[in-house]
Amino acid sequence: MGRKCSCDSFEEINEFKSPNEIEILRRTIRQDINFGNLEELKYRPHFLKDKNLSGDWYRCARCGDVWRLLEPSNASKGSWKIIDI
Ligand SMILES: [Zn+2]
Repeated sequence: MGRKCSCDSFEEINEFKSPNEIEILRRTIRQDINFGNLEELKYRPHFLKDKNLSGDWYRCARCGDVWRLLEPSNASKGSWKIIDI
């Protein structure tokens, strides 16, 4: 089991094991944005320590934890992780 955000809404994925796994997560993210459970961060929040991290950033609307979706690439299999702020 991966780490979860403070409100237990989302759980980390250390590494995507298949294209299907990331597709399911993308769908979940879209739904949670529509439901107001997740907010897409268009800009890097000023309070983050490392502003150079790539990927797509989201904030859990319930607990405020910040998440990063890193898409698979040649260099990595991608991940969905909490960003320490
Ligand atoms: Zn949360």
